[in-house]
Amino acid sequence: MNKKIVIGILYILTTLIFLSGCSKELKPVEESSYMLGTYLTIKLWTDHEEEGKEIIKKSFDRIQEIEKKMSVNLEDSEINKINHASGEDFIKVSKDTSEVLKKSLSYAKISRGAFDPTIGKLVQLWGIGTDSERVPSREEIENALKYVNFHRIKEKNDDSFQLQNKGMRLDLGGIAKGYAADEVYKILKEKKIEHAMINLGGNIYAVGNKLDGSSWKIGIQDPLQKTGTHMGYLEVSNQSVVTSGNYERFFVQNNERYHHIIDPHKGYPAKNGVISATIVTDKSMDADALSTATYILGVDEGMKLIESLENVECILVTQSQEVYVSSGLKKKFNIINEKFHLKD
Ligand code: ADP
Ligand code: MG
Repeated sequence: MNKKIVIGILYILTTLIFLSGCSKELKPVEESSYMLGTYLTIKLWTDHEEEGKEIIKKSFDRIQEIEKKMSVNLEDSEINKINHASGEDFIKVSKDTSEVLKKSLSYAKISRGAFDPTIGKLVQLWGIGTDSERVPSREEIENALKYVNFHRIKEKNDDSFQLQNKGMRLDLGGIAKGYAADEVYKILKEKKIEHAMINLGGNIYAVGNKLDGSSWKIGIQDPLQKTGTHMGYLEVSNQSVVTSGNYERFFVQNNERYHHIIDPHKGYPAKNGVISATIVTDKSMDADALSTATYILGVDEGMKLIESLENVECILVTQSQEVYVSSGLKKKFNIINEKFHLKD
């Protein structure tokens, strides 16, 4: 046979083998669960459905492990062990809990106490989202405020922590979901998953890009409309998007909306005009803590904090439908409802 023909045939064969190797089709696998007090969905793209399901199961197991350690609703969580020993002992905790507590303290510092993991006594008093939700009396609030102060968390370098005053109470509801999302992200990366959407009750991690290589489009809830109505959308690749809003958990009394994001200096649900705060960054734990913090800080202070942080962006929406977008996000955020006005 002619040498050229042989080379030609070999070339065609190699190309065919190469193409068939590449063409393993990625398909979505999606599972949901209820943990951390909210609905969780993980969707990933894989060429092996069974393996995809295994990866999601492993992720949910990991979230359950985190919940067991950090939930205030589970009597023997590590966080409740610290709470029960308040004013008395140091409690040694796992690396997980220790890491989240240390991060909570650093966010409490940079937000000058707007984010405060010792908010527990106030969260309990208001009971928002529980059967016992009510507007407490002024005296009750004044009293609870005495137990809220992150400076009174003591730590030793063997991962043990103590609350210095008896009756103080930790609550990691403003940060633990973010940590859980980061841990799921790690599992997906270990398993070489390139495209996925982690959604832990609105605490989102958009892994990689969409299958076609374009960025993910994340809808931002219209805080004035029912769940699922978007006021705009964000384009992101391999980043976390977390929103804190007054529409998530609240009750209404005498035309006043009482929601679950409490101002630790005042003892009341934060009320400064901001009704939703979205953070975009690489670590979901940072996004979670900072969305709670900026919600409480309000437009001026919140924006100042975010602009001072590298690679962290935000969108703040006010009651009067003004939208404030940090400098690095202006090109990636589009408003789709003209009721909302972009401010400089
Ligand atoms: P969601 O849990 O709805 O996603 P957030 O991340 O904003 O919303 O967290 C709100 C939760 O954080 C509350 O339910 C409470 O457990 C806790 N929390 C409320 N106020 C504060 C605060 N000032 N600092 C830290 N945590 C807070
Ligand atoms: Mg939060």
